[in-house]
Amino acid sequence: MSQEKKNEEAKMTGFFQSLKSVLLTAKVIFRMDWKNIPAFVGNQIFLTVQPFVALYFSARILDALAQGADRRTVISWVIGAVASGYGIYLLERLFACLNSVEGVTLYWQLYQEMSRVMMRADYGELEKPDIRQAKERIERSTRMFWYGPWEVPGVLMAVAQGLTITISALVLAWPVFLPVKGEGFPWGTLGMCVFILVSVLYSLRSEKRICEMQEGNLEELAVLQRKMYFFEEYIGEGRAAKDIRLYRQQELIRPRHQENWKKITQLNDRVSDARSKSSGIRGIFSQAIGAVAYLIVGARAIAGIFSVGAVVQYVGAVMKLSEGIRVLVYSLQHIRMQGPHCQEYLDFIGEGEDKMIYRHGQDGTAEVTLSGNPEDTAFGEGNAIEDGNAIEDGGCIEFEHVSFRYPGSNEWAVRDLSIRLEKGVHFAVVGRNGSGKTTFIKLLCRLYDPVEGRILLNGRDIREFKYEQYQRLFAVVFQDFQLFAMPLGENVASAMEYDGEKVMRALDQAGTGQWARELPKGLEQPLYLVEKDGINISGGEAQKIAIARALYKDSPFVILDEPTAALDPLAEAEIYEGFREMVAKKGAVYISHRLSSCRFCDTIAVFDEGRLVQLGGHEELLGDEGGKYYELWNAQAQYYQ
Ligand code: ADP
Repeated sequence: MSQEKKNEEAKMTGFFQSLKSVLLTAKVIFRMDWKNIPAFVGNQIFLTVQPFVALYFSARILDALAQGADRRTVISWVIGAVASGYGIYLLERLFACLNSVEGVTLYWQLYQEMSRVMMRADYGELEKPDIRQAKERIERSTRMFWYGPWEVPGVLMAVAQGLTITISALVLAWPVFLPVKGEGFPWGTLGMCVFILVSVLYSLRSEKRICEMQEGNLEELAVLQRKMYFFEEYIGEGRAAKDIRLYRQQELIRPRHQENWKKITQLNDRVSDARSKSSGIRGIFSQAIGAVAYLIVGARAIAGIFSVGAVVQYVGAVMKLSEGIRVLVYSLQHIRMQGPHCQEYLDFIGEGEDKMIYRHGQDGTAEVTLSGNPEDTAFGEGNAIEDGNAIEDGGCIEFEHVSFRYPGSNEWAVRDLSIRLEKGVHFAVVGRNGSGKTTFIKLLCRLYDPVEGRILLNGRDIREFKYEQYQRLFAVVFQDFQLFAMPLGENVASAMEYDGEKVMRALDQAGTGQWARELPKGLEQPLYLVEKDGINISGGEAQKIAIARALYKDSPFVILDEPTAALDPLAEAEIYEGFREMVAKKGAVYISHRLSSCRFCDTIAVFDEGRLVQLGGHEELLGDEGGKYYELWNAQAQYYQ
């Protein structure tokens, strides 16, 4: 469902749909950590109730003094005032501390939930723009405009505050609204009620207007903020520093930058101005209500109906009443505004009605058996493949008339592909850019499922197997491989607990063992300059570490998808040569746009426009002068002569 349509529907279903989304989000937050909501709401309730308790005790003390009560009675009211003041203060502080701790925790928990979804989501889904855009929208709404799940405790806090003030004020001021015998028609009370009603109606209208104004600004603000971030990043990026200087871009960037800021400030100012105006008018109403309350309560006090203390209590409480109703109105408006944003978060994390799709729904149940023999449960009972060469003779992966096109695309990225991969066979895939090589690898690793045809492991469709087990068959080094700002050992093992000797062996095999031994912290050495003692590594080292990671995984199939594209041909040939020996007995797939790196492979598959056009050994393919391989080889060879 498109975002516009969602927003439209959210507007139509209105308040109750929003309330449902906010309460569902509160439930999710409660499940993440039950202390969150009570910490936020509890703090607010105590903070709000504090002045009312003080008001009540002040009135009692005044009454006791005015009525000439004995010292003991006065002292006990004073003790009551001090004790309740301290008690509530302590509770309020306690909840405030919890609140600040929980606030930070909640912030990260909500983010972590999104990260968990991003890591778990089907790779194909992740490549679609939907998930990324949804994530961006959720983050942007929160970071820039304070909308979304992070605001739910605040909204509930406002509801609690509004209810507490309104109820406390009504409880303390109730007698003012009751008719008094012999007083005639209660014009004063009626007038006060009219003022309160007008004040509430005004609050409703002005809050609605301010909310609409804020929402109306969202799109424009989003565009302006995006531009701001773009400029900030561009200026902050080291790579742009040269262009900025050589093309004198300072004069181009600065005015745009300032213009953006001006527009953002103008939009925000409009909302602030409206808020100030609304608050001023509400102040006038509040004073008018106070004045009428004084008249009523004062007249009754003179008539001896109310005590001195009651004057203080009733007037104070009546003035708070309209404030309480205003906060309540504000919180209800906010529920309406937060609803669609909360719903989007719920959908994102898979709790909403419009769930995003996850691979787990399509997971197969069969155990991966490498030899085709069901008894051979290589992955059963926590039994990882100890021997990476365990793929038995006859065990193979076969593409059977496989075609694939990317979601939303009409072009076939891979078309009618039939190919067979086996243990001990080293396989190269060559072809021009865009000929479908990487897509072939993604299909092989089941990052995508074929649109047509089947991929078989030992004769069975790979969709029948447990997804995670199937993926453990492959160790891939992609061109855009990623290492983390974590210790070297954890990077190689892709785990926090690892076998140090095995990691060193993998690093040795990848040709970077000596470098690793000389690091100040060895395998514990954090990579990149994120940690205090982290180190920067060269592109070459990074590649070797990525290769060591693939070797450590010790899978029956290893795949190099142009991880060496940035290296010169000689360095690449060296790495491919070395790698060939390391994984001699495994199934291996090499992808390179440099044919010379792949010439030693047993079988070379030549791809062109998504189709397999030739298959064979280097010499054999080169012998076919009308073939694609011959054309590609000669086209490249002229650069190396
Ligand atoms: P190669 O690895 O040979 O360079 P690819 O497998 O990356 O080729 O791409 C094959 C075709 O699929 C190309 O036409 C490319 O534009 C298209 N393609 C690749 N990735 C995507 C994607 N994520 N979405 C849409 N089309 C894609």
